[in-house]
Amino acid sequence: MNSLHELKKIAIVGGGSAGWMSAMILADTLKEKNIEIELLESPIVGVIGVGEGSTPALKRFFDSLQIPESEWMPECNATYKCGITFDGWSTKPGFTSYFHQFASMVDNITQPLFISNVHARLQGMDVNAKPNDYFLTSVLVEKNLAPIPSENFPFTTSYGYHFDATLLGRFLQKKALERGVRFTPCHIEHASLNEHGDIDAVITRDGLRITADLFVDCSGFSSLLIEKTLKTPFVNYTDNLYNDSAIALPTEIGSVIPSQTLSTAMKFGWAWKIPLTNRFGNGYVYSSQFCSSDEAETELREKLGLLDADVSPRHLKMKVGRVEKHWNKNCVAVGLSQGFLEPLEATALYLTQMTIAIFALFLERGDYSEQARAAYNNEINNFFDGHRDYIVAHYKTNSRTDTEFWKVNARNLDRVSESLGRLFEVWLHGKDLSAEIRRQDIERYYPIGSWYALMAGMGIFPEVSTSASDMSSVHAGQGAQMKDFLQRCALNYRDHRTVLEQAAQG
Ligand SMILES: Cc1cc2nc3c(=O)[nH]c(=O)nc-3n(C[C@H](O)[C@H](O)[C@H](O)COP(=O)(O)OP(=O)(O)OC[C@H]3O[C@@H](n4cnc5c(N)ncnc54)[C@H](O)[C@@H]3O)c2cc1C
Repeated sequence: MNSLHELKKIAIVGGGSAGWMSAMILADTLKEKNIEIELLESPIVGVIGVGEGSTPALKRFFDSLQIPESEWMPECNATYKCGITFDGWSTKPGFTSYFHQFASMVDNITQPLFISNVHARLQGMDVNAKPNDYFLTSVLVEKNLAPIPSENFPFTTSYGYHFDATLLGRFLQKKALERGVRFTPCHIEHASLNEHGDIDAVITRDGLRITADLFVDCSGFSSLLIEKTLKTPFVNYTDNLYNDSAIALPTEIGSVIPSQTLSTAMKFGWAWKIPLTNRFGNGYVYSSQFCSSDEAETELREKLGLLDADVSPRHLKMKVGRVEKHWNKNCVAVGLSQGFLEPLEATALYLTQMTIAIFALFLERGDYSEQARAAYNNEINNFFDGHRDYIVAHYKTNSRTDTEFWKVNARNLDRVSESLGRLFEVWLHGKDLSAEIRRQDIERYYPIGSWYALMAGMGIFPEVSTSASDMSSVHAGQGAQMKDFLQRCALNYRDHRTVLEQAAQG
């Protein structure tokens, strides 16, 4: 296949969120082009069925496909997400919990003060540098408000969602079929290659041979085409990310529906708590190097008050890293088949979306040259590595000493990437982190406000120094004004549960 004219058929292997998201984006991009899209899914292998939190990018996905929240959210028991609270990751007094905010237009007013106070605190001044006190989404979360402002409030807020992953997959399937994607349930045994090393067909358990010009591998961790067939090397991230296992367990939702994800440090990893309209999704992401699945299950049950409850959790294994080439020959890998980062910042669907959306741009351009593939792979690798660094930073800055897991995680700073090492160095020398982030052009992966929230939220500051010039009363006065301003902004938002219930009634 050398041009878009030669592209007649795309086969997508796998019908999890990645498969159906890919189907939707490709169907939308190619709607004028008369190209057949067929999705093949095994009736034997299920979808992973976890992954209930998103970043704000998911809103862009639905907006770009003209699917309103009023249509998909109630069908997927979805709620709004303003950010993530990290509890117990730091033991430093005053910093044992912090909020990682999604951005709001109001931050244009408040973030400069936050950053200026962080820099003052880095010089040893006794000023408030806790992210929670500077962002509108933090106030919305404190009050369990939905991030949808009243009509007369002119500032918008970014937000993500929580949702039932299985229902989301079903919803996307329904929409993709409406938009002309064909669905064939079949279990693929293997694939065959032509003389150029491209995939020419996949062969099903019933001996059916399904051909296509382009294959999209969405087969999940089994990575059927990109790894098993094309032997694309896998770059694992286990040097700095030790978590390889997870347990998922639902609990009842109460009368209040929080508008945030909660991430609580545990003995050997961390636990998520994600509110949906009908339940909480809970889970424990841990490292099997440091504890057994039984120990992890007991710890999670204890935390949830379910020690003797008759509920069966799901145990999952995770492969953490990425393939070297996401686009190899005539195959593009999307979703878990291309790689995975532990779900600490709920970025997997975002990476899935970026992978297929950027590929769609190359398709539109009709450029399938070696240079195009190299440029594409470089871009997607940078996305993965950029996100990895942000996740690794949580572990390197933790100050827990209760288990070997946390101590080992804080060690080996020399193993972090050059980029992350440089960020730490700049911060620890009290220099301008924003300038360094811009210099490295890594704002595309995590914005400046997120890096400051993480480093300040974990309390990575020197001791307060009496010799530092004392501007604390000036900073305190500005801080009080800003708190008052944020409280007044929050008056323009309504209770989260009420907003969801009204939306569900239409
Ligand atoms: C513990 C955990 C927590 C997570 N939390 C989040 C989160 O909060 N936010 C987030 O964005 N992401 C999260 N993720 C990731 C998220 O679950 C996935 O990115 C998402 O579900 C997409 O998965 P997928 O479609 O790639 O794979 P799957 O859902 O595994 O789908 C694979 C598909 O391939 C098909 N298949 C497999 N083998 C064959 C075969 N031989 N023939 C035909 N078909 C086949 C299967 O039938 C299935 O349809 C989490 C993941 C884990 C493990």
